[in-house]
Amino acid sequence: MCEEKFGKRIYILDASALIFGFMSSSDEMQITCREVLEEVKFGEAAVYRATVIREGVGPKIIEPREEYVEAVKREVTRIGETGLSDADIKLLALALMFKDNGWEPVIVSADYAIQNTAFSLNIKVEPIIHKGIEKVIVWISYCPKCKWVGGVFKEGICPNCGSKLKRRPKR
Ligand SMILES: [Zn+2]
Repeated sequence: MCEEKFGKRIYILDASALIFGFMSSSDEMQITCREVLEEVKFGEAAVYRATVIREGVGPKIIEPREEYVEAVKREVTRIGETGLSDADIKLLALALMFKDNGWEPVIVSADYAIQNTAFSLNIKVEPIIHKGIEKVIVWISYCPKCKWVGGVFKEGICPNCGSKLKRRPKR
């Protein structure tokens, strides 16, 4: 099979892609970042998928370089997007990084804030359409330090201990 390196597709999976079990054809590269796995490990079937990834048969875990994280943060501020987690920002940074290296990054996500930011960065998004399943992920806030759990996710600090809040899917 003839493979072209330049413009080769790379799929960048967010938590919703992992929770819904996104699969591309097997010869296409799939990546995600550590923070996404952290979000996913709270989901139901997702525990299994997180194990699959750790064992090297799912997406590879790659971290973006800091300069790309900063570039995404500047764009997020410029367009006034809210509701992006650290994981989301890192995924967008991965997409920018691979684009700079001649790849064609495609972010797989059901998240509107990611789709919107990707659009403004001129990065392709594949919204998740999963046969027969229609489910909306509701994100709730939790504190990684003291385990406080709150309502629908908003940026902010824990009312109990002051740590930065993270998000996880509501069970
Ligand atoms: Zn706390």
